[in-house]
Amino acid sequence: MTNIALSQRARTALPGGVSHELRYRAPHPIYITRASGAEKWDVEGRRYVDFKMGSASQMLGHSHPAIVEAVQRQAERGIFSADCHEAELEWAEWVNRLFPCAERTRFTASGTEATMLALRLARAWSGKERVLRIDGHFHGWHDHALKGSKPGSDAAPSLGIPGCVNDLIDICAAEPQAMARALQDDRIGTVIIEASGANYGCVPLETDRLRALHDVARAAGVVLVFDEIITGFRWSPGGRQTRDDLTPDLTTLAKVVTGGLPGGAVCGRADIMDLMNNATQRDGLAPAVSHKGTFNGSPLIAAAACAAMPLLASGEAQAQADSMAQRMRDGMNTAFAQAGVPGLAYGDSSIFHVSFGHSTLNGLTPAQIRGLPSAQVTAYRDGMLAEGIDMMAYTSGLTSAAHTPELVDEALDAFRRTLARMIRD
Ligand code: PMP
Repeated sequence: MTNIALSQRARTALPGGVSHELRYRAPHPIYITRASGAEKWDVEGRRYVDFKMGSASQMLGHSHPAIVEAVQRQAERGIFSADCHEAELEWAEWVNRLFPCAERTRFTASGTEATMLALRLARAWSGKERVLRIDGHFHGWHDHALKGSKPGSDAAPSLGIPGCVNDLIDICAAEPQAMARALQDDRIGTVIIEASGANYGCVPLETDRLRALHDVARAAGVVLVFDEIITGFRWSPGGRQTRDDLTPDLTTLAKVVTGGLPGGAVCGRADIMDLMNNATQRDGLAPAVSHKGTFNGSPLIAAAACAAMPLLASGEAQAQADSMAQRMRDGMNTAFAQAGVPGLAYGDSSIFHVSFGHSTLNGLTPAQIRGLPSAQVTAYRDGMLAEGIDMMAYTSGLTSAAHTPELVDEALDAFRRTLARMIRD
């Protein structure tokens, strides 16, 4: 079986041949059969060093033995019965211990569901329907999340979203003055921020600026939500809020919080989270804020998460991943300098981004930084893939605790050759 043959078959079975629009690739995607550590193999037997890492979910590396064992053990004892169980409790206690804002945690079935729930809770608590979000920040694909996720545009980047929903979403630049101006509208009760900065930190959000945004939101008395779906357990065991000592009211988590399996979570202040507490509301069956979901907190996911938590809590996994991303950024910047072309590798924690044509981001607008995918970015990603190195969509790449100096150096060799080809062509 070949990648081309599968992609031809996929075109009639799946819209666009894919299950996620960013997996679409011309001329065709690769079909992966196996992944282990920081490597994966396609149907043709080709090996890749992976810098996508399950869209940032596989922080410990693919198929970490502790997670595989926990999932196998639980699967034998029952995949899912839709009942309460001890592991969901243990899992929530880990989150409540690690995240400063977390007095309670509620699990969801995806990151998109987590931001959907957080916005519902914040609107219920504040009694205000309008939400302020930051230009270009991504919060999943539900109706209330998409407007403004494309930088420099307040158009909804999807058909099918009701205009009355879009009308409830305000957008401001990631600047304290812009946020303060927007919050003069006292119909806004919620601010949501992607804690990495826009799109995995492609448009960086420095600590001082995040602190200033936090302070502006606090002064306005709105419910402050940090979307830590990327930064949670990655920027530090307790996410960006722990690293930078900033406590929001609510936090959304996914990807790493589940040990890399499907799911998500909202955690935060007890008084807000308890709007979902049946016992204190109405007739015991209908809490003030409704939240359902068949697979929320399922035992299989909870088993994986509880196996991952001790490995994530010490900070060693993050230190390894961070140092490998730093090695990648340094090596790429050396390659740009040696090739004599303007370019920049940058990023925070275990994420790196590449900008072609600029040696600094100073003076660029977020829309200029993220005006992607450019022909150069496509040439870079395709060139790296041909060398056996898989990067994320757009400009980002991620490292995990399983990346080693040898694998990073292999990727850097490929980057030098790819850059040389891009200059030549
Ligand atoms: N928020 C952020 C910051 C994300 O990066 C993502 C996914 N990349 C989401 C929300 C949505 O999460 P999911 O894909 O699990 O729905």
